Amino acid sequence: MPDCFEIFNKDLAGRIGRLRTPHGSVETPALMPVVNPHLRLIEPADLKKMGAEILITNSYIISQDPELREFAERKGVHRLLGFDGPVMTDSGAFQLSVYGDIEVLPLEILDFQRSIGSDISVPLDIPTPPDVSRPRAEAELVETVRRLSEARERWDGGDRLLAGPIQGSTYADLRFAAARKVRELGFDLCPIGAVVPLMEAYRFRDLVEVVAASKKGLGPGSPVHLFGAGHPMMFSLAAALGCDLFDSAAYALYARAGRYLTPSGTRHLEDLRYLPCCCDVCRDRSPEDLATDPDKTALLARHNLAVSLAEIREVRQSIWEGSLWELVERRCKSHPRILDGLRALGSHAIWIEGLDPVSRSTCFYLGPESAKRPEVLRYGSRIERIELSGRVLVADRGVDEEGYDHVLWFLPPFGPYPKELAETAPLNSEVPEASDGAGLYEAYANLKRLMEANPDATFEVRLRDPPKLQKEAMEAER
Ligand SMILES: [Zn+2]
Repeated sequence: MPDCFEIFNKDLAGRIGRLRTPHGSVETPALMPVVNPHLRLIEPADLKKMGAEILITNSYIISQDPELREFAERKGVHRLLGFDGPVMTDSGAFQLSVYGDIEVLPLEILDFQRSIGSDISVPLDIPTPPDVSRPRAEAELVETVRRLSEARERWDGGDRLLAGPIQGSTYADLRFAAARKVRELGFDLCPIGAVVPLMEAYRFRDLVEVVAASKKGLGPGSPVHLFGAGHPMMFSLAAALGCDLFDSAAYALYARAGRYLTPSGTRHLEDLRYLPCCCDVCRDRSPEDLATDPDKTALLARHNLAVSLAEIREVRQSIWEGSLWELVERRCKSHPRILDGLRALGSHAIWIEGLDPVSRSTCFYLGPESAKRPEVLRYGSRIERIELSGRVLVADRGVDEEGYDHVLWFLPPFGPYPKELAETAPLNSEVPEASDGAGLYEAYANLKRLMEANPDATFEVRLRDPPKLQKEAMEAER
């Protein structure tokens, strides 16, 4: 783990940590508002008052403007922005991905970032877009790794941080290999690059695969920045995969397009009759007031950023209390494509289970996706440890019959458990009265496992829901 990063609390693959920079520490997960040095919708000093602890700006844009460049080289990027907290700089890779060519050499832009006093500098990598041919993805990755090795070798930034971006397009094995290499070279922060097209196209399932592959290659110790992730709707999902830093250009870009961010999606201001928010912009304005205000764009940007920063605090609270899964489920149910992301997260349950701390608050079962929680997987993997003999009754929770050697209660999605464990996690979970197919499927699979592990015991299964209905639900789930 780099010296600049410490982890304090964990939930799923997510964590609350602290990233140390020369201009102070930042609690993570954190959101870095993007500041365009040419167009400042909100002044950086105001960003700080709103709760932004760290900013990101583009060193390429600064380097291409003689006036900004001269000021930044003389007085530093912090004075240029008017912000005394940590500042990360990007290299121009985004411009490279949009325009295909930029007028700067990789080591030159890295030296420039160092010379203007950036707290976190990023070498100029090649942002390979999703879905390119395999030969192209491989060739560009070779060049990215060459540049990262060169940057690492030449870096003399003292206690300033150097980031090593992970590329590899939509090839999970290339992302994994790239992350391994970044880890081996030893960077302070690891951005996952070139994922904006996936997020713009709502390809959250592909995004989860890219992030999971990168995280598995990196290991749990490195702080990870999901480059270009600025919509509050997906912060909890990304945090659950172990992303620690996000950057938002979205607050400003969406504002310019008259779009109003919420943690459950984007609305057009013109479609709103009410403002579902109590930030200082929305509190005493109607949508019409906002739409007709001469400062409409700046006001919308303030709202967009306020809800984004509030969502980061919600994510932190959820990690701290062990309820991140519940938050991810609520957020992911706001759009079918992001629900695909949650389901993809469920397919990495074994990896997540290995990172997820065992003790936690009471789980809430909120629907079929909850059947893929790490707690369910963990319980299933240990059920064979229950040793039984003689006559065994498996019955609904609360049934207490005489004449059996063992009485096990039954609770979907976990299945059978010794009644003495009823008050312990995860069997103290809150579940709905009516079970769904996914929960019953897991519960019955565990019952089968338990019976197979105890071939000498005689099982009697007496459950409230008619077994036929349960069987149908299981079939439907398959
Ligand atoms: Zn608001």
